Amino acid sequence: MQYVRSVGPARAQLLARLNIFSVRDLFYHFPRRHEDRTAMQPAHSLPHGETASVFGTVLGSEEKMPRRGLTITTVTLSDGLNVFSAVWFNQPYVARRMAVGAKVIVTGRVDRTCGTVRVQAADYEVLDGPEALHTGRIVPVYQLTAGLSQRTLRVAVKFALDGLAGRLPEFLPAALLSRLNLTPLPEALCEVHFPSAAGALERARRRFVFEELFLLQLALLRQRKNVQRAGGLAMRPDGALVQAFLDQLPFTLTGSQSRAWREIAGDMEDDAPMYRLLQGEVGSGKTVVAELALLKAVENGLQGALLAPTGILAEQHYLGLKETFAPLGVKLALYTGSTPGSRRQEVLTGLATGGLQVAVGTHALLQEGVVFRRLGVAVIDEQHRFGVRQRAVMQEKGRRPDVLVMTATPIPRTLALTLYGDLAVTTIDGLPPNRQPVKTYRAGRRHLPRVYQRVGEEVARGHQAFVVCPLIEESERLEDVQAAVELHGRLGSGPLKGLRLGLLHGRLKAEEKEAVMTAFRAGRLDVLVATTVVEVGVDVRNATAMVILDAERFGLAQLHQLRGRVGRGPAESICILVSASRSREALLRLTAMEKTGDGFTLAGEDLRIRGPGEVWGTRQSGLPVFRIADLTRDFDLLELARREAENLLAGDPELGMNEHLALKEEVEERFAGLKSYIEVG
Ligand code: ADP
Ligand code: MG
Repeated sequence: MQYVRSVGPARAQLLARLNIFSVRDLFYHFPRRHEDRTAMQPAHSLPHGETASVFGTVLGSEEKMPRRGLTITTVTLSDGLNVFSAVWFNQPYVARRMAVGAKVIVTGRVDRTCGTVRVQAADYEVLDGPEALHTGRIVPVYQLTAGLSQRTLRVAVKFALDGLAGRLPEFLPAALLSRLNLTPLPEALCEVHFPSAAGALERARRRFVFEELFLLQLALLRQRKNVQRAGGLAMRPDGALVQAFLDQLPFTLTGSQSRAWREIAGDMEDDAPMYRLLQGEVGSGKTVVAELALLKAVENGLQGALLAPTGILAEQHYLGLKETFAPLGVKLALYTGSTPGSRRQEVLTGLATGGLQVAVGTHALLQEGVVFRRLGVAVIDEQHRFGVRQRAVMQEKGRRPDVLVMTATPIPRTLALTLYGDLAVTTIDGLPPNRQPVKTYRAGRRHLPRVYQRVGEEVARGHQAFVVCPLIEESERLEDVQAAVELHGRLGSGPLKGLRLGLLHGRLKAEEKEAVMTAFRAGRLDVLVATTVVEVGVDVRNATAMVILDAERFGLAQLHQLRGRVGRGPAESICILVSASRSREALLRLTAMEKTGDGFTLAGEDLRIRGPGEVWGTRQSGLPVFRIADLTRDFDLLELARREAENLLAGDPELGMNEHLALKEEVEERFAGLKSYIEVG
């Protein structure tokens, strides 16, 4: 960078802080936005308070220091008809550049008092070059770092573009460019930084958005190919254990579940490693399907692992699995961060020797010391909390085991494509029979007495209830836990007096949590006061009321998950969202919850309200950070990029054709970070 005209070593270091190390990086440091400073009008025609660009010839300048630390530079200008002035604060060097007779453009706020016009200059340009950079045009506005100004960066970009833009090789195939009417690279670079017109900017932007999404899709698709080609474990058709499990279920699988299982079983029987996303509404019955996958591995003499995002969910799964797996003679163990040392060693040995057939656990299972004798399938629940990397680690634990990812929060198709472009998707539609939609209401804090009364009524009918207070995700802070403890006490001595209350939060010991959950499940507790630890996985059919306090503090995905804890039995259930917030976003979220019980619709709403970066917790899950693409507006381009990537790879899977070599290089360079992941297969 330092050799680019106007940069030098000192500025190169500033640029490095923005991750700009090469001219290429500089080109791909796209403007955050642009300002249209094309409209130039005579200063005297502008209304007070407006921000505009004005042109003038310098008549003279004056500098004042009314007090220490304040310099005011006033430049008098003529636009040919009238005289006006431009004012700068604390920029004494401005006067030196404003020689009498110089032609300048000043952008700033117009201040009209008593017939005089003053422009409070925000930016300016002395027109000594052929082309204006900072004013009188559509001007780029960049993300900066301390010590680097917009002007400096603009000049650097401009010099680099003038000298070098033409030398960057185009890597998108020529045929693609012309068919999709995309701006070629050098022109697109110039236009995206210094647009000649609004339309040209839009076109240039479209090229880079497409480029970004297209390269990502190519990387994801190639990665999937590699994994498939590598070959994995081919299992036998469903055997005795799977059948025994199906026989003891108190229900039969829904059509949708059977279809899902046939797809998954087919993958597992295939030689290529499975890489499948199982998505379905909260409570749609994914767990049963996951259990089938684990048992299929076991009956093939292999091991299974089930990963959950939190300790309490892992425990939940473990308890649920133990009930059905133990009678079938399957040996399983729980392994989380809070598994005591002695037990830990036992489990590790069991997994390494194959004495244990199924492990249920958290991230702890991903640690280096955990070795499986023959891992056949890894099921990852609630994928949105696990990143791509963790998935890859799980794969490394075996000889390319099958991987099944479950998400209880359906993701809009477009997001699924970017996030899981490399996964095949199975969806369980609908819910098991005899479910009723959960009635959802919003309530203000002043309605709390009525809300608790309603909880009492549910309990009087022999049902159970949750009261959830909003706490910080997995790392619950002590003060939050205290708030839950207090709430529990307050409710017990006040509005819910006489009911049997339980308390569940993340700081309890594993045995304590287990005891509380067991009591609630057995009906020995009426109301469970809980932090978000109940967000996922709690399955108590008799629970019919869910009260969520300070509901505005939860995202839509969480609210939907929480609501999914009720409405699991035949009785009608309610969910009450208590909130005193007046924020527009919160209101939109809570109203969306009231209006619909459908996760897909909610996911779409969430995308609209918040934008994709935040949606469904995707931020933690390795959703790529885009430089220019914006999934709230670039859906169409994403789908186009996907289609084009598929077509291209269909004709040239290795990207080995001459016209695709540059493209291949580009994909590999940009996704170097994904490489180890690709090679895992
Ligand atoms: P998910 O994991 O998709 O949120 P679960 O697997 O926890 O859903 O299932 C929710 C509830 O529905 C559980 O109580 C489960 O036993 C029950 N269930 C699952 N499949 C069926 C079915 N086919 N018929 C009736 N109930 C079912
Ligand atoms: Mg579940």
